[in-house]
Amino acid sequence: MQAVPPKNEIERLNALREYRILDTLPEQAYDDITHLAAYICQTPIALVSLIDESRQWFKSRVGLDVSETPLMDAFCTHALLRPDDMLAVNDTLNDPRFADNRLVTGAPYIRFYAGVPLVTQAGAVLGTLCVIDTQPRDLDAAAKSALFRLGRQVMAQLELRKTLLTLQRADQELNRLNLALTEQTLTDPLTQVHNRRALEHSLTAEWERAFRYSQPLSLLLLDVDDFKSYNDTYGHQAGDQVLRLVAAIISRDARQPDFVARYGGEEFVIVLPETDSEGALQIAERVRYKIEQASWPHRPVTVSVGHASYGNQADAEAMLKQADQAMYRAKQAGRNCVMGAL
Ligand code: GH3
Ligand code: MG
Ligand code: MG
Repeated sequence: MQAVPPKNEIERLNALREYRILDTLPEQAYDDITHLAAYICQTPIALVSLIDESRQWFKSRVGLDVSETPLMDAFCTHALLRPDDMLAVNDTLNDPRFADNRLVTGAPYIRFYAGVPLVTQAGAVLGTLCVIDTQPRDLDAAAKSALFRLGRQVMAQLELRKTLLTLQRADQELNRLNLALTEQTLTDPLTQVHNRRALEHSLTAEWERAFRYSQPLSLLLLDVDDFKSYNDTYGHQAGDQVLRLVAAIISRDARQPDFVARYGGEEFVIVLPETDSEGALQIAERVRYKIEQASWPHRPVTVSVGHASYGNQADAEAMLKQADQAMYRAKQAGRNCVMGAL
């Protein structure tokens, strides 16, 4: 006969779920406790039994082959009703609650059962630590006391597990926030492309890769033409909108390995890994053209582009300087054009 579920059964099941223990693999810590319980109480069977919705599942078992049984057969459901007490049945055949239980009338022919409830601090009973025999018997006071103590050790293990789960979740959340924060410190808030700091990291890394593996590497430096006059004529906010649109056009055009950054006020850099000078010129021309062709709110916007490629420069900064000089020559050449490093 299965006991009637207690009134707070939903909260009890929720409490059990929080431990995420059901259907986990056997663990030494719980097995040590069941072995001790069986030894101290001198029973062939000892179990850590957790009462799920429709089954009792054994986190640890000595002397029993099955890992779970249906709730209708569970002795332990009776323990749910008595969180403060041990359920002891000295002879199941003399107890009307259990005499017709299938585990009594059939294998494993239970005659003796003693279970201490596993109770959370909030008072929810998760299951029992129980000992079982096929002979009727009586536990002495010392064995009963030991079973209570071992039950508290099972609970301590369960609490440890829950604390660890909480810590792991907090750690994951912290990592996520850290990543988001790092991302933020490397992103330009106005245009949402990388900022100068991120550019320095990326360019240095790409430079070292190009140096080590003799791979091509190029970069473009774009500067919006006559931007001061745009700001002066249409206002700073209209200027901001141009910067956002330029960043969007560049980003849309970029390939996966390309790295787009806002280098300064109205200047952008595109790092082009595995791209030689010829490729860089083509990309620069395409981006310049796309910006020229885009539909702009007030008046056409154009950019002057300088490009430089990995060669005999001393470092990444020298390459950036070359691109800057090339961009300056594009300005001198009349703007809205592309120039390469000399
Ligand atoms: P050039 O064609 O030679 O590049 O001329 P220019 O007017 O674009 O260059 P200049 O260096 O004289 O002016 C750049 C302007 O960019 C001045 C500055 O106010 C503006 N600027 C810099 N950062 C921002 C920003 O975040 N938003 C806006 N709206 N304007 C900015
Ligand atoms: Mg400028
Ligand atoms: Mg400019």
